[in-house]
Amino acid sequence: MGFDPSRFAGPVAAELQCGLCGRVLEEPLSTPCGHVFCAGCLLPWAARRRRCPLRCRPLAAAELRPVLPLRSLVQELEVKCDYSPRGCGRTVRLRELPAHLAACRYGPPGPAEPQPPAGLPSGRSPGNKKSSWRFSSSAWGCVLHRIMFYKCNAPFFHWKAGDS
Ligand SMILES: [Zn+2]
Ligand SMILES: [Zn+2]
Ligand SMILES: [Zn+2]
Repeated sequence: MGFDPSRFAGPVAAELQCGLCGRVLEEPLSTPCGHVFCAGCLLPWAARRRRCPLRCRPLAAAELRPVLPLRSLVQELEVKCDYSPRGCGRTVRLRELPAHLAACRYGPPGPAEPQPPAGLPSGRSPGNKKSSWRFSSSAWGCVLHRIMFYKCNAPFFHWKAGDS
């Protein structure tokens, strides 16, 4: 199954589209007769029908060859960020998309992001969080705890929103 053409920033040449799924070629494979389809589209077809999808000639899966220049051409095309519905206006080359998605500030928060109230802005190591947060066994600890909690509350949420 190829890439959705609507994800690309501009129109995609017909030569870069797969005749089986009608999308933009993903891992292009060529038949011995020179026709190119996505690997994910052509391999099951070849195993089942044992013919080129354009009915040119019989073929075996072992005769199919990756078309690396076409693959690089597709990888150089500009695509919109996956998070464009969330507000990201960036377009990047397809080959750079995974790196952009990992860093995109419009992406959903990752599972590693600290959750309140564990994620104090003090930068303590995760192993220390619980013990440093629960020091209210003495009276002094309780006061300190209240001051910290009062002081940290607003900046903490502010920091969360600005950092994501
Ligand atoms: Zn396809
Ligand atoms: Zn053919
Ligand atoms: Zn983005």
